[in-house]
Amino acid sequence: MKCPNCRVDLKRHDFKGIVLDHCEQCDGLWFDKGELERAKNEKDRKLEGFDFSLWADTEKLSTEQGERSCPKCHENMSVINYAGYADLPLDICPTCQGVWLDKGEFDTLISHLEELKKEFSLASYFKAFEEEARQLLHPKKGFFAEAKDLVVISKLLLYRIIETIPPVAG
Ligand SMILES: [Zn+2]
Ligand SMILES: [Zn+2]
Repeated sequence: MKCPNCRVDLKRHDFKGIVLDHCEQCDGLWFDKGELERAKNEKDRKLEGFDFSLWADTEKLSTEQGERSCPKCHENMSVINYAGYADLPLDICPTCQGVWLDKGEFDTLISHLEELKKEFSLASYFKAFEEEARQLLHPKKGFFAEAKDLVVISKLLLYRIIETIPPVAG
């Protein structure tokens, strides 16, 4: 396969057990279908299960016809841009669904996903918290309701502690 940038032969490149195709000239990387997902999980285990279906959010997504051709099936690749991530245009082949990443784009993608994951966990945390707060305001009578309130209150306290301690990286 040839590099879609410089047209030189791509070299096999082992990334944590996944064989990728790498251009020694421009440092670009070719991921066959599914390989980007696997590479992402190898790079950061915390991102496992946090998938690229986010990119399916069509309202935030714009796709345009790219100028590069797929190193595998030579079709024209599409350039996908995700709103708010101007530094991350992804070249995707609509036919074989492989992805070409220029130098540094893999790391940029990983840090974007890590940021997004943080926002998502926080959002789902707030949602659960909101539900509990609502139950606290309208408690059902009885022993279970009281027992549950204690849990809610201890969670509220825990939340206050979490809130004041910045999250530890890694
Ligand atoms: Zn190249
Ligand atoms: Zn292709």
